Amino acid sequence: MIPMVNLKAQYAEIKDEVEAGLATTIENCSFILGPNVQGFEKEAAEYLGVKHAIGVASGTDALHLALIAEGIKAGDEVITSAFTFIATAEAIKYVGAIPVFVDVDPKTFNITAATIEAAITDKTTAVMPVHLFGLPVDMPAIQAVCAKHDLKIIEDCAQSFGASIDDKQTGSMGNASGYSFFPSKNLGAFGDGGLVVTNSDETADKLKQLRNHGSNVRYYHDVIGFNSRLDDMQAVVLRAKLKRIDRYNDSRRHAAHLYSELMADLPVETPYEDGVGVHVYHQYTLLSDRRDDILKALQDKGVGCAVYYPVPLHQQNVFKEDCAGQVLPETEAIAARCISLPICSELSDDTVREIVAIIRNVFED
Ligand SMILES: *Cc1c(COP(=O)(O)O)cnc(C)c1O
Repeated sequence: MIPMVNLKAQYAEIKDEVEAGLATTIENCSFILGPNVQGFEKEAAEYLGVKHAIGVASGTDALHLALIAEGIKAGDEVITSAFTFIATAEAIKYVGAIPVFVDVDPKTFNITAATIEAAITDKTTAVMPVHLFGLPVDMPAIQAVCAKHDLKIIEDCAQSFGASIDDKQTGSMGNASGYSFFPSKNLGAFGDGGLVVTNSDETADKLKQLRNHGSNVRYYHDVIGFNSRLDDMQAVVLRAKLKRIDRYNDSRRHAAHLYSELMADLPVETPYEDGVGVHVYHQYTLLSDRRDDILKALQDKGVGCAVYYPVPLHQQNVFKEDCAGQVLPETEAIAARCISLPICSELSDDTVREIVAIIRNVFED
């Protein structure tokens, strides 16, 4: 059995440090917005090269609160990808705005300045690019389009912790950006957690209020807020993993490059790297006409694999009315041919070779 993500191996190395930190939080009963949350926020902001980092309860909340803090409101149109996890679009719906799905580039699987620009109307107020599978979107081009049309950028960095482009971290180029610490993400907590980052003092102040019942001073409430805080125990785990995130991402890249090298002669399309952005391989995703055969062969041998994402958002039941008749050719073609293989920071070369041998067999049968 080879799992999609091996979290146990990662834990073994940080166990002592994490257990000591958790014991201290428990002894001090500093559970909510405690010293580790503050410490983590400071360390994450430094790592990401941003002025402010605000811990929240999940990646979904991070995107939701970022949209509110940036003033995105009911009736606004927010341009985003249909080839992403539902949470991207849910956050847009939560503020009453309308997700406008545009097509992706067939190589990067990300939305582009061109597909965005073609969808701008006088109701568009923001763009939510998703750095899908850990490959940065072309931010300089998107920033140029958004500056020209006076649009806000809310980056969905749930899959891209540590990815960069032009030596800038994803998340540091938008007005506000959301990260997820769902356990299987590149930087994963031991439960749910999220982070919003921004360079704006004003946005940061709003976010601190919004996550804590609309309050800066206890029992004085200025706006209707939320209960959406990162808890101290999760922050203990995240601080230990943040120290090691470059190594974790480097091993993901190493495994990904080995996969691609070993499959170079097979009729599959291996993940694209543009040489500008640094891909952190939240997923290692292939395209193949024989996707379903590969899926079955791997499953038969007990190898974890998955289709991310089988149904693009514009074709989901929940958006059937909103998106009636919409066709996104590239997105639909990718969804029909994609398969994600096991990838994590503890994947050995031998395991990669074993997985590739199973895939090779599919084409040799
Ligand atoms: C995981 C994910 C989210 C949501 O994060 P949660 O922490 O699970 O709420 C949002 N967007 C994308 C692209 C994701 O992969």
